[in-house]
Amino acid sequence: MSARIIDGKGAAAALRAKVAVEVAGYRAATGRAPGLAVVLVGEDPASAVYVRSKGKATLEAGMLSFEHKLPAEISEGKLIDLINELNSDPAVDGILVQLPLPDHIDPNQVILAIDPDKDVDGFHPINAGRLAIGLTGFTPCTPLGCLKLLKAELGDLSGKNAVVIGRSNIVGKPMAMLLLAEHCTVTIAHSRTRDLPEVVRAADIVVAAVGRAGMVKGDWLKPGATVIDVGINRVAGEGGNSHLAGDVDFASASQIAGAITPVPGGVGPMTIACLIRNTLVSAARRDGFELPE
Ligand code: NDP
Repeated sequence: MSARIIDGKGAAAALRAKVAVEVAGYRAATGRAPGLAVVLVGEDPASAVYVRSKGKATLEAGMLSFEHKLPAEISEGKLIDLINELNSDPAVDGILVQLPLPDHIDPNQVILAIDPDKDVDGFHPINAGRLAIGLTGFTPCTPLGCLKLLKAELGDLSGKNAVVIGRSNIVGKPMAMLLLAEHCTVTIAHSRTRDLPEVVRAADIVVAAVGRAGMVKGDWLKPGATVIDVGINRVAGEGGNSHLAGDVDFASASQIAGAITPVPGGVGPMTIACLIRNTLVSAARRDGFELPE
């Protein structure tokens, strides 16, 4: 193995510790704690795990966590009523609705109902637009975490060729926007891309956000490339066991890449750290409290 392993878990722990210090300063100055409301609809086990981790990280940073667990059969209207209450609750600085939602609820309507200035997930079209044209808003947490890892690894990203595989609204597209803002030359690849291995071979930076275990092989990579693996795929193993795997074939890619994130322990922990940081940023903006960058 030649690649450096990018320690997302360590970077996330450091960011969370920094946020905790900033929260203490914010509380001392304003007399209140930032609050994050997380809404979970239904009983999807993976979503329940994510919501628990988010609540725990929020409390550990010295912030308030408001968890709203709603039955799967709740109507879209009732869910939007709750969001409206949270929008006008002064104790709530951030609102997150855990996706996916049950089929009878349109996630776009729910996201549209969130006050863009409390949209710490950065999914509201106003925040997507702000990101696209370079205005201050909220950036989705997963691509923000990827960017922080890339900058820590590479420093200045200006002029680098970056290939983002995946064009979802929550990962691929905002990732591409962030890399463009850092002056990378950005290619967005997707399921209709022709000769993906050849496209990837031109990249100094590869971000894989596909949802296909082990798709990106070592021989697709330019030697020395920096590889960020966003994928979280549950793969069945022997005897009914299963394990998590990324979108990159770690064994072959780590022979060729210069640096690579593992799965688990790479991008995943950074997502939650960026969420609590976004919540603090929201509180600080609402109170006119200055945070260090
Ligand atoms: P989506 O399913 O919304 O998007 C997947 C993207 O991959 C689509 O743009 C799709 O193209 C593209 N794609 C699918 N198959 C191929 C292929 N064979 N070749 C090239 N591109 C392909 O997924 P998400 O963006 O929501 O998530 C991606 C992965 O990241 C998942 O594994 C998810 O679990 C993980 N994830 C991890 C997070 C974390 O915190 N670490 C957070 C969020 C997601 P097309 O548009 O043409 O269909």
